[in-house]
Amino acid sequence: MIEEHTIGEFTLVTLLDGIFLCSTDMIKAAASEEGAALFKSAGLPASGPVPEPINAFLLKKNDELWLIDAGCGRELGPRFGKASAALLSAGYALDQIQGVIISHMHEDHVGGLIKEDGSALYPNATLFLSHEELAFWTDPTAPEKHPQMSQAGLFKLANSALTAYAPRIKALPADAHVIPGVSLIPLHGHTPGHSGIQIESGGQRVLIWGDVIHSTLLQLRYPHWSIGFDMDPVQALDTRVRLLERLAHEDMLVTGPHVMGIGHVHTCCAGGYELKLVSRT
Ligand SMILES: [Zn+2]
Repeated sequence: MIEEHTIGEFTLVTLLDGIFLCSTDMIKAAASEEGAALFKSAGLPASGPVPEPINAFLLKKNDELWLIDAGCGRELGPRFGKASAALLSAGYALDQIQGVIISHMHEDHVGGLIKEDGSALYPNATLFLSHEELAFWTDPTAPEKHPQMSQAGLFKLANSALTAYAPRIKALPADAHVIPGVSLIPLHGHTPGHSGIQIESGGQRVLIWGDVIHSTLLQLRYPHWSIGFDMDPVQALDTRVRLLERLAHEDMLVTGPHVMGIGHVHTCCAGGYELKLVSRT
C-alpha cells in the first residue's frame, strides 16, 4: 500500500525502504521497567525489539517530482533498499526526479542515492542539503576524529554519493527555502547539519523531522531516551525536547524516516507525547 497525503499543492508519498528492529542496544534506556511496559503495551516481548520503518518520501507538485531522503540502497542488506522499487511501482521513473533533499548523510538516508557502480540512481536530480552537513562529511579531518563511523564506511559512502551528484549539489543555509513551500529546518545534533524538511501549502503544514525520533513507541513517551547514533547526544536531546514541546502546541502534521504514518503530536502521560495519526487525506 502506498501512503499518500495532500498538502495544498503538494502530494507527499511515503516510500517504505525497509523495517529495522529498534533494540535496547540502540536505545539503552529502554532496557528498563518502563521500556518493558512499553514493549508489552505494543504486544512485543518485554525486552523488545520494536520494528520501525526506514522511509524515503516522494514530494510531487504537478509534474515536478522530488525525493526527501533516499533510503539504504545496498547498505544494510537485502531486506532494505526498497524505496526506488516503491517509486517505480507507484508509476514514476527514476529520471523524473529533479531533486533529492537530504536530512543528513547516514547510510539509511543516502545509500539509495547511488547504483552499485557508484553512479547516480537519479540521473537528473540535484542534491540539496544544509551547508553544515556538507561541510562535516567533506572535512578531510573528520574520519580521523570519528574512527568508528569511518570504520563503518560512512564517510566513504557519503563521499561516493557526493561524487556521483557532484555537478549538481546545492548546499543551503540551515533554514533555507529549497523551493517555494519547502524549507530546511535546523534540527542539529543527530549529525552536525541534521535538518527537518517542512512543507507548507494551502494553509497546511507538514514537518518531516529527520532522525529526531527513531522509535515513536519509545521516544515519544520518554523524549530523553536517546539512540546511540546521535553524534552530539546533548544537542540531539535538546533538539528533540524543544521540538516536541513546540509541536504539541502547533497545528503541524509530522512524519519522519522512522515513523509509521503521519499525525499530530499531543502531550500525554506525565511529560511524554503521543502521535495521533491521521487517515489518508
Ligand atoms: Zn536514520
